[in-house]
Formats: sequence, structure tokens, C-alpha cells
Amino acid sequence: MKSVSKYPLYWEKDNFSIKIFCSIPNIATGILLKAGPSYFIIDPGDGILRDLSKEIGTKSILNISDVFVSHGHHDHVGGVWSLLTYLRVMNKKSPLSIYFPKGCIEIVSIYNAFKKVYSKTISYKIILQELKQTNKFKRKSVLIKPFPVVHKEYLHDGIKTRLVPSFGYSFTYQGKKICYGGDTAYCEELAANAKNSDLAIIEAGHDEDTPDDMHMTLAEAKSIGETAKDYFLVHVPE
Ligand SMILES: [Zn+2]
Ligand SMILES: [Zn+2]
Repeated sequence: MKSVSKYPLYWEKDNFSIKIFCSIPNIATGILLKAGPSYFIIDPGDGILRDLSKEIGTKSILNISDVFVSHGHHDHVGGVWSLLTYLRVMNKKSPLSIYFPKGCIEIVSIYNAFKKVYSKTISYKIILQELKQTNKFKRKSVLIKPFPVVHKEYLHDGIKTRLVPSFGYSFTYQGKKICYGGDTAYCEELAANAKNSDLAIIEAGHDEDTPDDMHMTLAEAKSIGETAKDYFLVHVPE
């Protein structure tokens, strides 16, 4: 394990790299994946534009082709509006695909509001990719495998919970595999996908010893991370 919450976290093998600008529960997550010349964003939380402009420069942000959203909580999608608007202001021409789990109402709502506000002045095509299944697919020479994870949120009473549509994703490029679990309680899908990956990015959002249905404890997260060749623990409460 390289670090717990010392951001940014960076990993690179050959032409495949990932930079986690931050991943702080209830605040923000923001991740840039580079595969050769291609740029993907994973979980564009608040601050993503600032971090991207610092990392790759304001112009290169236009080259981002794909955005992967693990789930709709604000700390994972808070930067989507500003990203979409920035790309419009900067006159992006190439399309942008946004992948998200079916039922993630936040992404659909942000998209609809954006289309409504800017109607005919959007310079680029936004392709919403609502993932209903977890079949593998390829984008820009990267093989992507979405997988369901188990993440919940509290209802108004603060006691009852409900499941949130949530995915983790693994990304494989030139034989190297990065597994990102998103927010999740301990689940077999994540354990299976993280195993033997070159890098596993595992949340450890639960700071007590009693496991719950929302996040993993450090011990649970480590037990999954250690099955990968290398791992980062993220989303640790600060
Ligand atoms: Zn979160
Ligand atoms: Zn969450």
C-alpha cells in the first residue's frame, strides 16, 4: 500500500496511469485516467476542473472523451455541471460519453438541466451511457468492465437505508489492469475484480470497527487491496 489519503495519489505503468486528485467522503472525489493519448475521468466531484487544468492544462481538457461515474452521491458528481459548461464555453467539438449505473438519477437530472439551460448552444455531443448490464466494452483501446457494488444511503429518518445504484469499474490497457471500487460495503464482486489487478483503488470510508452497508473498514479494504499487486486506500474520513 502506498498511502492513505495523501493526495494526489499517482500510479503509472508504461503508458497507463491514474491520478487521484482526492477522494474524501462527503467532500469530493476526482480521478484522471490516462491510457496512451486518451484521457478518461472517473468520478468528477467538486474541484475536478481546477485539478484537471493544473494537471493537463486548460486546452487538453477538451480532449477528454469519456467520463465514468460510480454513483450519484454529490462527492462523486459535484463537478459534472461545471465540466459540461466549461467544455461548451471552450467550444469542444468531439463527443463526450458519460457512463453511469442505471437508475443514477443525478446524472440524468444534471444532463437534462444542462440541455434545458443551454438548449441549442452546446458545441459537442453528450452521449449518456446508462449501464444496465455489466458486460465488458472497449473505448480507445481500453477494456472496461463495470461491476455492481453494494452502497447505501440514509433516508430522512436517519435510520432506514436504501441501496444506491453503484458500480465499480476495471480498466485494462496493454495487459495492465486498474480496478476502482467506488463507494461500497464489502462485497464479493469487488473482491473478485480487484484480485490480481495491477492496481486496486479501494475505499475505506468506515472509521469504526463495526462494518455497515455503506462503506468498508480499513481492515476490510486492506484485505481486498492485498489481493492486488498494488493498491491505494481512498475515501478515508479526514
Ligand atoms: Zn463518496
Ligand atoms: Zn457514496
